[in-house]
Amino acid sequence: MKKSRKSPATETRVEEIAGHIPGVPVQTGQTVELDIAGLTTEAEGVGRVEGYTLFVAGALPGDRVRARVTQIGKSYGRAVLLDIVRPSPDRRAAPCPLHDACGGCQLQHWSYGAQLRWKRQHVIDNLKRIGRLRVANGFQGETAQPDSAADHPPVIVHPTMGMADPWRYRNKAQVPIGPGAGGLAGGFFEPGTHRIVDLNACLIQHGENEELIRAVKAAARSLGLSAYNRKTGRGLLRHVVVRHARATGQRMVVLVTNGRDIPHAAELVGLIRERVPGVTSICQNVNTARTPVVFGEETRVLWGEEVIYDEIGGIRFAISPRSFFQVNTEQTETLYRKAAQYAGLTGEETVIDVYCGIGTISLFLARRARKVYGVEIVPEAVEDARRNALLNGMRNVEFTAGRAEEVLPRWQAAGLRADVLVVDPPRKGCDPAVLRAMLDMRPRRIVYVSCNPSTLARDLRVLEDGGYRAVEVQPVDMFPHTTHVECCVLLVRK
Ligand code: SAH
Repeated sequence: MKKSRKSPATETRVEEIAGHIPGVPVQTGQTVELDIAGLTTEAEGVGRVEGYTLFVAGALPGDRVRARVTQIGKSYGRAVLLDIVRPSPDRRAAPCPLHDACGGCQLQHWSYGAQLRWKRQHVIDNLKRIGRLRVANGFQGETAQPDSAADHPPVIVHPTMGMADPWRYRNKAQVPIGPGAGGLAGGFFEPGTHRIVDLNACLIQHGENEELIRAVKAAARSLGLSAYNRKTGRGLLRHVVVRHARATGQRMVVLVTNGRDIPHAAELVGLIRERVPGVTSICQNVNTARTPVVFGEETRVLWGEEVIYDEIGGIRFAISPRSFFQVNTEQTETLYRKAAQYAGLTGEETVIDVYCGIGTISLFLARRARKVYGVEIVPEAVEDARRNALLNGMRNVEFTAGRAEEVLPRWQAAGLRADVLVVDPPRKGCDPAVLRAMLDMRPRRIVYVSCNPSTLARDLRVLEDGGYRAVEVQPVDMFPHTTHVECCVLLVRK
């Protein structure tokens, strides 16, 4: 390959372009044509050239593409998409004009059906590769036999439960504000910068959230409120957070400000209420720290209620400005109904809900259990959980703040036993000490709710080796148009 030597900068590039590794059939700079067969969780297409794996951002399974190789390693490399020679039949024009720039959704250009099929296959691949499990393809409605003493049937992975209308599902928007046209912009960060791209429409956001954000931006502009500048640390308005409660229609705005004082605060509240008569809570959160963390410590009500109420499966939740609440209410209910079905409660059982957050699953199950114990690391979430139990008149739940890896072994050692144990860990999965305590407690059933198929598969292997059998797996699509996959798994003691 020809090299031109001009500046040190070009020189490094030239080195890269010339790059080749013995035994690797492509070199950097080379243009290749390939069929895309898979998709990574970073939404890169995966294909092969003479058996060598290349990742191509923007390419989808089923596409045939031309791409230029930019990086090579021993076992795989990367290429940039040049053009699509033959599109996958599932390829679509992304409905959102900012799809490529925003990065909030990665899969809008793929049919929803293909997304759901990929999510299930992604779970299956992980269970086989990492979990070394035998997998049977299930179909919706198929019944597994959880309590059969038979040998070891393969685990059933059901088709992903999707949404009938996979748009406008988010109940919360958290919009960064920065300097821009008319005084301020609010939308998303231009990748790799502090610059904010103004955005007034987001197709996965509830329409009323969109309206509320537009109203707040317009009101702030008309009153000349300054926008927070992330380079200088000056300027007032940092974030606008809005929430919409599906069951009650209540709506909350939180203005995150760099300082306590909002000039023209009363006018601002008046303008927001005038433009959006349905708003029920307008709050302020003060964050003066130079950090990407959205919320600061101090929150106060500017007007209206301090919380809004929503419901999941008939259970009420009070949501305050900083509370965690699942963003897709409809699918959360779908997921927790599945968890309840897998728990198979009769009203006599003791249940432990590990990584319980604000107690969503605990309360969901408490109606059919004798007693539910929840454990969660974030103290505010535990307070919310207790408040939510009271709000629903539930007395058979008890929440503990602490690390699951410390609390669960302590409970186990103290002789607490659960008939059904539920875990819903963060992305990194269950701590080994949690898995050990689970096995020592010997619950009849384990319901594992997971947002990460690879750590799920790893943990299922430990539970299988410890005397449990993974019976069935239900993937649920909580985040359409992204690569996120949520699963609910039933395990029974062998
Ligand atoms: N089941 C809840 C939340 C699950 S998200 C719901 O449906 O709303 C996972 C939760 O685990 C988060 O609330 C997180 O704060 C908590 N968590 C993370 N690490 C933890 C640990 N080591 N011990 C206990 N809880 C933890």
